[in-house]
Amino acid sequence: MPTDDCQAARDRLLDQTIAGFGEGSPAGAMKEHLRRCPGCAKYLEGLRAASGAIRPLLEPFKPSPLGVLVSTAYGYQRPALMLFYACAIVLLSLHERWGRILAPLRFTGRMPLTNYLMQSVICTLIFYGYGLGFYERVGPTLCLVLAFVIFPVQVLTSIWWFRHFRFGPAEWLWRTLTYGAAPKMLLDPSESPVAV
Ligand SMILES: [Zn+2]
Repeated sequence: MPTDDCQAARDRLLDQTIAGFGEGSPAGAMKEHLRRCPGCAKYLEGLRAASGAIRPLLEPFKPSPLGVLVSTAYGYQRPALMLFYACAIVLLSLHERWGRILAPLRFTGRMPLTNYLMQSVICTLIFYGYGLGFYERVGPTLCLVLAFVIFPVQVLTSIWWFRHFRFGPAEWLWRTLTYGAAPKMLLDPSESPVAV
């Protein structure tokens, strides 16, 4: 049970922690008290754990030339990587053989919003707690495997979809909201799938 002594000791420990003076080892009478009193020693332990958890949040952002360089490079790196992928696919598809291999991607590209949303749904079901909870439990290899499973499934789904419909579901909704009228969704039986 904390006595008045203990209460005073704890008040002081709390004050010191808040003021930032609680970093060093307690000295003098406080040291003696903590040695005798497991309750107060435990209290100090708790204070240290709490301040250790909070401190990183309070540290001010310290800019450095390297930090600026890294975040600038990172800002350019992402669109540059995207352009690289896009250009690589366009250049490859100009070749006869690669063109045939990459051709199915045009269906995926006709419903990009749907596929993007679908990826979010699939991946949150895999990674988040309300699904399989894989987050931070799987390494890069399994993530790569997942990518090579999920995307081909989306390509196949897109191919199947455009045998029956003119637009992806999310794209259809987007158009409906944009134009204020629902465009025709079903392909006519006479129509062959649009091979754009
Ligand atoms: Zn005490």
